[in-house]
Amino acid sequence: MRDGDSLSIDLPGAVADVLDTLRRDGGEAVLVGGCVRDVVRGEVPADWDIATSWPPEAVAGRFPGSTWENAFGTVTVIHPGGEAGIEVTTYRVEAGYRDRRRPDIVRWGSSVREDLARRDFTINAMAWLPDDGSAAAGRLVDPFGGAADLEAGLLRAVGNPDERFNEDALRLVRGVRLASRFDLRLDPPTEESIRRHAPDAAGLSAERVRDELLRILAGAAPPSRAFALMEQLGLLAVLLPELAALRGVPQSKPLGGDALDHSLRAADALPATDPVLRLAGLLHDLGKATTLANGHFLQHEEAGERLAGEVMLRLRAPRAELTRVGRLVLHHMFTYSPDWTDAAVRRFVRRVGADLLPDLFALRAADDLASGVHDPAVGGWGELRRRTAAVIAGDPLEAKHLAVTGDDLVAELGIGPGPVIGRLLAALLEEVLEDPTLNSRDRLLALARSMASG
Ligand code: ATP
Ligand code: MG
Repeated sequence: MRDGDSLSIDLPGAVADVLDTLRRDGGEAVLVGGCVRDVVRGEVPADWDIATSWPPEAVAGRFPGSTWENAFGTVTVIHPGGEAGIEVTTYRVEAGYRDRRRPDIVRWGSSVREDLARRDFTINAMAWLPDDGSAAAGRLVDPFGGAADLEAGLLRAVGNPDERFNEDALRLVRGVRLASRFDLRLDPPTEESIRRHAPDAAGLSAERVRDELLRILAGAAPPSRAFALMEQLGLLAVLLPELAALRGVPQSKPLGGDALDHSLRAADALPATDPVLRLAGLLHDLGKATTLANGHFLQHEEAGERLAGEVMLRLRAPRAELTRVGRLVLHHMFTYSPDWTDAAVRRFVRRVGADLLPDLFALRAADDLASGVHDPAVGGWGELRRRTAAVIAGDPLEAKHLAVTGDDLVAELGIGPGPVIGRLLAALLEEVLEDPTLNSRDRLLALARSMASG
């Protein structure tokens, strides 16, 4: 397929309606970007982006209830027939990227070709122009040969790659994501330009980088493909130097390779539906780069927690994600043996936190798979999982599960509220973890009395 070829698309009714409405009174409206790429690849797009010759005010005026929030001229049209909003963007031309991050000036453009020229890669720089009449039949607008590149399995920047990456360094990472997602080779000039510009990625805003990394991790393609490509192109050392440092760190595991190979395999083994868990898989062994001594990685999980925390802070990850990844890295080396008492199982749950267990077992399964340990019985994880579930369902595991409160202790012992009461509650919990039958009001008060006087 090439520029100007006819192409019919089976459009959702809402999308056809929006296109028709915009094409009245001399307006032009086209499908653009990812959805055209998906159609050319023979796939059904997840969302439909429309570009138009009308300025944003005129678009918003045609669709009551639409919202227009940003400076880039994108209007979100809420169509009664469509489930999600359809984004309509005014044709634009961009100029001036002084900071390699965002255009300084956005100007509305007058033609779809002008709009396509400011897009990143040829496969993303195609549009579909509906024929006169109703939107169903139409033509491909493909001035940069995106369809031919897709057919040849090539990812190529629009125009001069150095200029494109100079304008916006995020395109370096987007290029890796797209190449990996669609299994494309990088066109040599594009590849060389990415390599040359890789250091520029250091100046990107944390939010944009994090968003791209999470999109890689949430994709159907194995994340190892994108991260290995980032390494080859020099981007990994710029964006995730802690991970790049695992290259060459030896491992003695049934599956060969070094600690970076192992980490990439661990990310692949976790579900795409949980990209943050995949990130924990990617980062779980960061500590191995700094702790190797005499063939052992002493306390690498603690060093790893610190390093993973630094990565998450640098990416400005939300607090909850930072904590989740940090805790997973810290606890991923847990052990188990069938001779553990129930009290040992309770102490394990208490140390790790009941809320972390599902993630932690998933991470460990991925870690085992990435090490070449295939026997699900190894380590007895299934048994530990059952035993933790049983103690969580039935046993007191936290201070709030105790049969007495701090107030009870204050009233019974005549000690003022304060740190002593806190320490007593903690000591009572230790006793109850050991022996849950102690968890009655009378027995705990008696225990507390003897502790307070002892
Ligand atoms: P997806 O299916 O992942 O949403 P997409 O191609 O729609 O893929 P978006 O990030 O939603 O990806 O971008 C929409 C379109 O906007 C792209 O197809 C591309 O044409 C253009 N685009 C997005 N980001 C950039 C950028 N940084 N520089 C140039 N063009 C961009
Ligand atoms: Mg999109």
